[in-house]
Amino acid sequence: MLALTYIEHGKFGLTEKPVPEIIAPGDAIVRVTLGSICTSDLHIKHGSVPRAVPGITVGHEMVGVVEKTGSAVHNVKPGDRVAVNVETFCGECFFCKHGYVNNCTDPDGGWALGCRIDGGQAEYVRVPHADTGLSLIPDNVSDEQALFVGDILATGYWAAKISEISPEDTVLIIGAGPTGICTLLCTMLKKPAKIIVCEQDAARRRFVEEHYPDVLVTSPEGCKEFVLAHSLHGGADRVMEVAGGTDTFRLAWECARPNAIVTVVALYDRPQVLPLPDMYGKNLTFKTGGVDGCDCDEILRLISEGKIDTTPLITHRFPLDRIMDAYEIFENRLDGVIKISVLPTAAGDLK
Ligand SMILES: [Zn+2]
Ligand SMILES: [Zn+2]
Repeated sequence: MLALTYIEHGKFGLTEKPVPEIIAPGDAIVRVTLGSICTSDLHIKHGSVPRAVPGITVGHEMVGVVEKTGSAVHNVKPGDRVAVNVETFCGECFFCKHGYVNNCTDPDGGWALGCRIDGGQAEYVRVPHADTGLSLIPDNVSDEQALFVGDILATGYWAAKISEISPEDTVLIIGAGPTGICTLLCTMLKKPAKIIVCEQDAARRRFVEEHYPDVLVTSPEGCKEFVLAHSLHGGADRVMEVAGGTDTFRLAWECARPNAIVTVVALYDRPQVLPLPDMYGKNLTFKTGGVDGCDCDEILRLISEGKIDTTPLITHRFPLDRIMDAYEIFENRLDGVIKISVLPTAAGDLK
């Protein structure tokens, strides 16, 4: 089968690999019907994910159809349409039992697919702990609608959940990239009084204005004044930092009112500074970390009920055999790209 492989620092290549087999009783083999490219894939390519193993197939955003299951798999069966979770988790350990699946202590626990073990920018993928790692896609939900459930949408859902948003809040979301927009969609479900999105890129600001007219939009330069003008208590009640830029962490806590919650969703390339003397007396609560992706069934239900729609994020569609072209566009942010879907079919077979 075709698989996009992490060859070495700075280099991905399309290679031929054998179709994966069941290794452990909890495994399932999934035929990928749609995949996507994530910024984290670029982090692997550029060497900022040290645990990524050269030689693995990359890709951790995908949906598909179950082909085979190991003897210990009970929640899915061959023929089922499934969303694949970016995180592998056992469901049994201390962290899993508390919903902190990102910290699962299983050897494959956490972000393994497309990082430490073969992922889904391929025709087939082996999913360990399939009972927790796969979610059934409702019949009225398409592959495109379900594509982001296991990763960026799970992240947005988790961010909105841990930010403890209430109806009187002004919520500031910094960053309107794909994960920022997923965070926005999940924040909208909480119906806060105001949502402000801060984004550097004019095209992305326009995207938010066009698709979500009730959302207030600002740029980093004017952000602090804008937030002050649109909040009642000297800053945003809740801030979600999804941008991961050079100055966006500072912007996040500076825009927060005293006693606000600041949720850091972004993955930074460099260490950030926590200048405690500057924020003394502000009594902020910071929440940080990687997604606990254990609400995928709930997210799929919300999609099925029409309450979340991420399909406008898919701006480009490519067949797997042209995925290098797709990376070119995604990596260089060409042509207004937000997300690219990858269909594991040869270009000639595309209808
Ligand atoms: Zn990702
Ligand atoms: Zn676990």
